[in-house]
Amino acid sequence: MSTSKGTEYGDLGTRFVHAGNEPDPRTGAVTTPISLATTFAQVAPGETTGYEYSRTGNPTRNALQLSLAAAEGAAHCVAFASGCAALVAILHSTCRTGDKIVCIDDVYGGTQRYLRTCVEPIYGMKLEFVDFKDMSLVQKAVEGAKLVWLETPTNPNLEVTDIAAVAKVTNEAGALLVVDNTFLSPYLQNPLELGADIVAHSCTKSIAGHSDVVMGAVCLNNEDVHKQLLFFQNTLGSVPSPFDCYMCQRGLKTLHIRMQRSNENASVVAGFLEAHAQVVRVSWPGLASHPQFEIASRQQRGGGMVITFWVKPGDDGDKRAACRRFLAATKLFVCAESLGAVESLAESPSIMTHGSVPKEKRERLGIDDAMVRLSVGIESAQDLIADLDQALAQI
Ligand SMILES: *Cc1c(COP(=O)(O)O)cnc(C)c1O
Repeated sequence: MSTSKGTEYGDLGTRFVHAGNEPDPRTGAVTTPISLATTFAQVAPGETTGYEYSRTGNPTRNALQLSLAAAEGAAHCVAFASGCAALVAILHSTCRTGDKIVCIDDVYGGTQRYLRTCVEPIYGMKLEFVDFKDMSLVQKAVEGAKLVWLETPTNPNLEVTDIAAVAKVTNEAGALLVVDNTFLSPYLQNPLELGADIVAHSCTKSIAGHSDVVMGAVCLNNEDVHKQLLFFQNTLGSVPSPFDCYMCQRGLKTLHIRMQRSNENASVVAGFLEAHAQVVRVSWPGLASHPQFEIASRQQRGGGMVITFWVKPGDDGDKRAACRRFLAATKLFVCAESLGAVESLAESPSIMTHGSVPKEKRERLGIDDAMVRLSVGIESAQDLIADLDQALAQI
């Protein structure tokens, strides 16, 4: 079964457990063997078993790719050594010098860095960063574009874009729409069903889910782009190791259980924060107060595990000091970058994940020193709230 949308396995949770996980035909092993061989014996010169050299094709990686394709309801998946490597492969596979790329303006920092420092000056593609809240700007920008890069919800503001509306104008303009679906995972959002052409994931986050794997993946139905991605996976050589593929496939099997719990916890935490006197504002797409709540309710099956909020500074009015005191005081929420794993994390975007964004741009995007980003894990919601409550009291 080389191409599969996974629906024959049933609903998402069943697909996460079973797709790509057929018992090993040789031994009956119910989990995918970690296939470490770098080279594969040929029956006669040029006559292979389907595998020849492990960068080009690896049985553990192939099993994971089948699992991830089914998870997104895609015909194909190509896995890479990181989310950033997946981005590089997508751009190599779709764009050439002179092509125009339209990108959402508060895109993931690593994506922005690659576009600004490599894609434009080195490869000579034209970039246009656009505020996707204004569809008339999007409509104008996509004219003559080759690729449109969207991330929803955005990081760290958690603004939501209507994927189907962007897919419509992108499609009319003859461009390809990529959606970075890392923040919600295949459990809470499936962009291909909403008209996107390509889905990008940093599997480092919720798909692997345990803060112990760095990996990326691209899911799609487009046969031509799939061929190109396989060519660049082999040519650029940015492949994930068989061990990491095993770990990622293992993580995917519990994605629905983890996301259900994280999402429930996030809902409780967001409500708690919204009612707290020491909190100025909360952004979570599952809250009725979220500016794009209606779009989120239509295209997402939950608000996700990331919550952004702004603390009220103490009597000295010093936002950065208040945020530092809060982050020093949490005991369960670990002060760290990244998101989507079993343990809860808290960070200051202005100092940590978005520290390299120029100050004026940070201010325009509302990324000030009072902002805190949480990744809500699968612990007890009551314990998480108690931890936040005692830390907010330290401000
Ligand atoms: C982390 C992340 C990436 C980059 O993935 P890596 O696996 O760290 O290379 C891309 N997009 C989003 C939204 C991310 O959160």
